[in-house]
This record gives sequence, structure tokens and C-alpha cells, in this order.
Amino acid sequence: MTDERFDRAQRLIQRMRAQLPQVTRRDVVRAAFAFGASSIALALAPRPARAAGGFSGPRFTGYPFTLGVASGYPRPDGVSLWTRLAPEPLRADGGMQPDMIHVEWQVASDDKFANIVRKGGVRAVPELAHSVHVDVRGLEPGRWYWYRFICGNEASPTGRTRTAEGPGGRLDKLRFAVASCQHYEQAYFAAHRHLVAEDLDLMFFVGDYIYESNWGDDLVRRHVGPEANTLARYRVRHAQYKTDPDLQASHAAMPWAFTWDDHEVENDYAGDQGENLDPGFLLRRAAAYQAFFEHMPVPLTMRPKANEMRIYDTLDYGDFARFYLVDNRQYRDPQACPDAYKGGGSTDVTAKECPFVMEPSRSMIGLPQEQWLDGAFANSRARWNVIVQQTIFSRFGTLRDGEMTRWTDGWDGYPATRERVLASLEAHRVRNPLVLGGDIHAAVVADVRRDPDRDDSPVVAAEFCGTSIASQGWSEAMFNPRLPQNPHVKYGNTTKRGYIAFEASAQGCDARLRVLDNEKMRSSGIGTLASFRVEDGKPGVDKA
Ligand code: FE
Ligand code: CA
Repeated sequence: MTDERFDRAQRLIQRMRAQLPQVTRRDVVRAAFAFGASSIALALAPRPARAAGGFSGPRFTGYPFTLGVASGYPRPDGVSLWTRLAPEPLRADGGMQPDMIHVEWQVASDDKFANIVRKGGVRAVPELAHSVHVDVRGLEPGRWYWYRFICGNEASPTGRTRTAEGPGGRLDKLRFAVASCQHYEQAYFAAHRHLVAEDLDLMFFVGDYIYESNWGDDLVRRHVGPEANTLARYRVRHAQYKTDPDLQASHAAMPWAFTWDDHEVENDYAGDQGENLDPGFLLRRAAAYQAFFEHMPVPLTMRPKANEMRIYDTLDYGDFARFYLVDNRQYRDPQACPDAYKGGGSTDVTAKECPFVMEPSRSMIGLPQEQWLDGAFANSRARWNVIVQQTIFSRFGTLRDGEMTRWTDGWDGYPATRERVLASLEAHRVRNPLVLGGDIHAAVVADVRRDPDRDDSPVVAAEFCGTSIASQGWSEAMFNPRLPQNPHVKYGNTTKRGYIAFEASAQGCDARLRVLDNEKMRSSGIGTLASFRVEDGKPGVDKA
């Protein structure tokens, strides 16, 4: 709200108070509605103190921007900004009174805010944990901006963000990274400190941003509270992750875009089915989705509606790159042939043991999303087409009684969907398809074949999966024997934590597996485990 609007609202309320000696809070709200919705923030905010220069805002019990700032979903003309007011972030209410609060935001073309190009006001409401989402528009394509929030006498840290390239832009290089799986207890987030130094245009996080449960070996720190399964607990969990200084720095340095995986809600959930067949699962999922929305720089249009939070979307960088953000959790059919002991969730089966896994009517992403993806492939004019999704795409089973096992939570568990996605890529002659993923806590680089079950089938895409920012890997005894049994896999490693950094140009796309020396140390250094290249016009990946 501008100062002028503030003054008008303030005068209105004073007049009401003078005319109606016993004015109630509801009357103030009603008057504020009549005046204009944005006045509600003022009407319900804790009594503001007047200071020279205007609004000095609410009194907080501490610094309100303890969770930092973030930006996401770059478009040629704008970006989405986020923060949350939480002076006491590890309390369910964030240390806030249940009032609406007025927050100002500013976007500048310089880091000193000498040239503010966009600004405005927005209200933070208790129903959304005093989170703030602003979809800024009217910016120029392909350039850096700086942003911050102001509330009362407090200013947030400054974030840096970058808009996408526009349709007519002449982009010659794009730098991005993919990361996933950051169990807070199992390791520090040193990888995020190194991501800042990569100087990326944008960052993709593909799931397990939080973990709902407390587990792991050699824990370096502990979650607050037991398993998250209510809105209050998911809020505390998200807030605790966001207190990590390396994670905050990574958000403040560049725009992010997301998909999520199971642990933002519950291990191995599938659509509306929980792992333990909990009849109240949709309520739990709704709470988890709301907390995710409250803590991520996602556009307002992605806010949860009814039981859904639609996060699948495309991001375009002119004719240079199109990113397909795919959600393979929210709409999937349940995993085939679950373990009777748990009721739901994943297992390893062969097609002989579980013919249902091959059933063509089952979908991993739901038919509406399959149709959307097919349409987005069909009208892509981009040189690089990057599918950003949660888990390993290529076949990655192991031989049992002469048959390949299928992990029913990954794409091996939904072979018909994978077949349709690959057929769509080929039918629409999509240029240079890359598949990015996470989830498996190991790095896998692979050629994606038309028929992933046949090693003589043509290569149609290149896959880069993993590793994890912090979550522990599997044993080499389990992982390594799979490598020779899956010859389309060019490289695999389960021992290291980190991320994959990419640099795409007109000629090719280089990928580096960046891994920490020791994820159990906050100060860990980083190195390159292996490098790969995808040549323009040549499907698949080569070791560099
Ligand atoms: Fe994970
Ligand atoms: Ca997962």
C-alpha cells in the first residue's frame, strides 16, 4: 500500500471510531472491504506506530525475515518473489500474532537499490503462515535484478534474480543445475554454498526438499519434533530447513523452479494414497502442499486449490531452451503389487511376478498431464528440451532368476507411461531432449533408449539423475552390480553427495557431477567427479 492509501484508510478508520463508540473489529473489517481489500492489512495489523516518514508497522518479537528470501519461475517479463514473516521460525505460528500484516517489496536493477524499477505492497495473512508471494511483471528479459521486502522498520536480506530470455532473444549460453534430496539430519547443506559459486542462470530442485521423518546414520543435527503430518508440523519442518544459512544463500543468489517428490508429504505416497493406506491421507497431503506453497517461491497461480496444487508447467528461454516441470507424484496411480505388510508403497518386482506393472492404463503422471506434456512437446521450437522430474527415468533394475527387477516407485514401475512419453518425443521430433531427475541418492548418467528394456533400441534422449544434496546413498554392494546389467548407463556413483551443473550452448550441453569432499562438514570443499557432453543434434550422452 502506498503512503497515500495508508493515510486514506487510516482516516476512514478514525472516522468510524469517532462515529461508532463501540466499533468492533468486524466493523473495521467490513469498512475496510468497502474501502478496498488492501486496506484490510492495515485494519487488522497490530496498531501501527506513526513515525516521521510514515508507516513504521507492527512490533515483532525479533527479526521477522529469519527465513531469508527467494525467487523462482523466471519469465521474460518477470519472476516470482517469496519471503515469510517468522521472528520465531521454529514455533508453529512463527512467533506471529494472528493478524494480517502489510509488507512492501522492491525490485531494483542494481544491488544498492539506487534504481528501483518495480515496487508494491502485499498483505501477509496468518492463514498462509504470513508468507509473501509476489508475481512481479514488467521487467526486461534476460537480466539480473535485486529484490527485498520491507515490513515496519525491518528490511529483508537482498536477493538476486534473473529473468528468462524472451522469444526474440539471442541467447548463446545457459547455465543451470539440478539438485534433490536434502535430509537435514543426515548432512550439512554445503552443496548449496557451492551452488552459489557456480553462477547459474537458474536452479532446479526436483524433490525431497524436506523429509517428513527422522532417520539416518551418523546424523549431524536433528529435526525439531516428530514426524511431520499436520500443517503445524510441516510448517516447522520447512522453516527449520530454511534457517540453514547455505540454503538461504542459494535461494538468494538465483531463481529456482521445482518439482516435488514423496518426502514433502510422506514416503512413497502415490496420488491420493498414503503408504499405510491412511483414510485421512488427503487431509495430510493438503496440509503438506499448503506448507510447501507457504515456503517456496512459486507463483500465486500454483497455490493449492481444493485438493490439488498444480505445479506442472513449462519455462521458456526463447528458442534456446524449454524446461518441462513434470509432477510424477500427485497424479500417479498406486504402485503395482505393494508389499502386504505396509499396504501401499514401493517394492522390487519382476514383470513375471507382477504382470500388473505392465498394465497400459496405469499412469505415473495422470492422463491430463500426459496430454499436456504431449502438447508442450508438439509446439516446442526450442533447441534444448529439458524434462525436469523427480526420479530415475531409465531402466535400473537388477537380474533375479534371469528377469530384470523393477522398482515400482520409479519409471520402471510405470513402463507404459514412459513408453508414451518417449513416443511423443519422437513423434514431435523434439530437439535435444534431456531428462533430469533425483530421488535415488546416487548419480546416474544414461542414454535413454526408445525401448528402455532393449539394449539395441535407438537412443532418443540423455538422462542425468541425482545425486543428493545431503541424503545418504545406498551401499555400493547394492548399487554397483546394477551398472554392468544396465549398459545404457554410462556412469553411476552412490558414494558422493552434490548436484549436477550444466552449461548449454548452440553446439552442445556440458554436464559436471559436482560432489562434496565430506557432506558431514559444513565447510566441505567440492570437486568434479565426472564430466559429460551432449552434442547438439546427437541423441544421448558422451563422457567428456
Ligand atoms: Fe530422497
Ligand atoms: Ca524420494
